[in-house]
Amino acid sequence: MPAATLLQKELGLVESSWYEASVQRPAPQPTLTGHWEADVGVIGGGYAGLSAALELAQRGFAVVLLEAQRLGWGASGRNGGQVLAGFGSDGEEAICHQLGAARSRMAWDVSVEAVSLLRERIARYEMACDWQPGALTVSVKPSRTRALRRWMEPLARDWGHPLQWIDKKDLPQWIASERFDAAVHDPVSGHLHPLKYCLELGRAAHGAGVRIFENSPALRLERGERPLVKTGQGELRCRHLILAGNVYLGEYGDALAPEISGRIMPVGTYMIATEAMDAARAKALIPSACAVSDNNFVLDYFRLSADHRLLFGAGDSYSGVTPRRLVSRIRGSMLRVFPSLADLSVTHAWGGFVDLTMNKAPDFGRLAPNIFYLQGFSGHGLAMAGMAGRLAAEAVQAQAERFDLFARLKHAHFPGGTRLRTPALVLGMLYYRLRDAL
Ligand SMILES: Cc1cc2nc3c(=O)[nH]c(=O)nc-3n(C[C@H](O)[C@H](O)[C@H](O)COP(=O)(O)OP(=O)(O)OC[C@H]3O[C@@H](n4cnc5c(N)ncnc54)[C@H](O)[C@@H]3O)c2cc1C
Repeated sequence: MPAATLLQKELGLVESSWYEASVQRPAPQPTLTGHWEADVGVIGGGYAGLSAALELAQRGFAVVLLEAQRLGWGASGRNGGQVLAGFGSDGEEAICHQLGAARSRMAWDVSVEAVSLLRERIARYEMACDWQPGALTVSVKPSRTRALRRWMEPLARDWGHPLQWIDKKDLPQWIASERFDAAVHDPVSGHLHPLKYCLELGRAAHGAGVRIFENSPALRLERGERPLVKTGQGELRCRHLILAGNVYLGEYGDALAPEISGRIMPVGTYMIATEAMDAARAKALIPSACAVSDNNFVLDYFRLSADHRLLFGAGDSYSGVTPRRLVSRIRGSMLRVFPSLADLSVTHAWGGFVDLTMNKAPDFGRLAPNIFYLQGFSGHGLAMAGMAGRLAAEAVQAQAERFDLFARLKHAHFPGGTRLRTPALVLGMLYYRLRDAL
């Protein structure tokens, strides 16, 4: 896809984001000009890049971070806000299949630590980001209920994750919707305001000494003992480099990391925000105040905001094109869950791209011994991208055991390479849509 195309589509997707409307962004950080030197360079100002930068600065490294736009401009500023342990059932299956029982247990523990890390940072840096504990995974029909049981039982029984099964008759205490057949409650997971959290992570990184440059896309990379990153007006020489640019990395400079871009697919997913309700009405809707997502392949995910709106995400686009009648389609999905909200107007709609891998497990690795990459969070990056930053920091310090646990996962390239992978995936996804519908 030509550079301008994906980026222009993105601009349309972020314009009316409720997240952007509900934060006061600080003044921009400067643009990189002239020559800079650092122990570690980081490309990307989302959770993965900021987290790696923070972690490394805390460990005494001189760190420079380059963000092409503003911090949190990518998926980290637009997502559903669901902070979930694990990798999603498909990702977990792929990890188990490839790594075996003992190593997949280690990977699961890393994902639980990801949530703890996020909560520790919220506490330590007094981050104002509307954290709310508790997440529900709901099923919409008996066949998905059986799949939910199959997913939950080994996690609870063998790995001791404190999941609670909820039968249909008990659901009204948790969520006031007739649509669902059963649910699993995870008290470890939760939700927050994703853009506030990302900006707070930026504040923490800056406070720890990270030199942050915004509006500074990395355009070229010269690899070697001391990699050199070139932007429009400056350059950065570093000993180690961490690439955390998500699906946008190749949009600015084809040659940055061509060998990894075909391993992830940009999949559009979209959200709406309703007008604010009064507190009692919002509480009656989701008495548990949990984040909620269903276990369909093409899933609905929703939660209440701190100011009592329903934030509802649904649907996807594998064509890279924003679907037509987006708001009415997502509103339709929302009304299937909560018909009583028909009187509420939709005040905001936005979306972004998820970096999907073929097997839905995350994709970390090295382009060279001193160049690391973090990508492929497949819709489960809110906690895990932050943790990936910690693992990359460990790897920079030559303590790469946990990084390499993930780096050994094999990932297929999408058929057709970066330009033609879309039509192939559209066909593949039709199968999953049919499976959900049937
Ligand atoms: C609508 C939506 C809903 C989602 N919901 C959830 C959810 O509820 N729970 C969950 O766990 N996950 C969710 N996700 C996924 C989650 O948001 C991502 O996995 C996570 O934010 C990825 O973080 P990141 O740092 O890798 O990427 P990003 O946040 O996208 O950051 C990458 C940054 O790199 C910058 N960049 C790229 N290339 C360059 C370059 N060449 N030079 C300089 N900078 C560059 C970009 O501008 C961008 O800011 C959702 C995603 C979307 C889009």
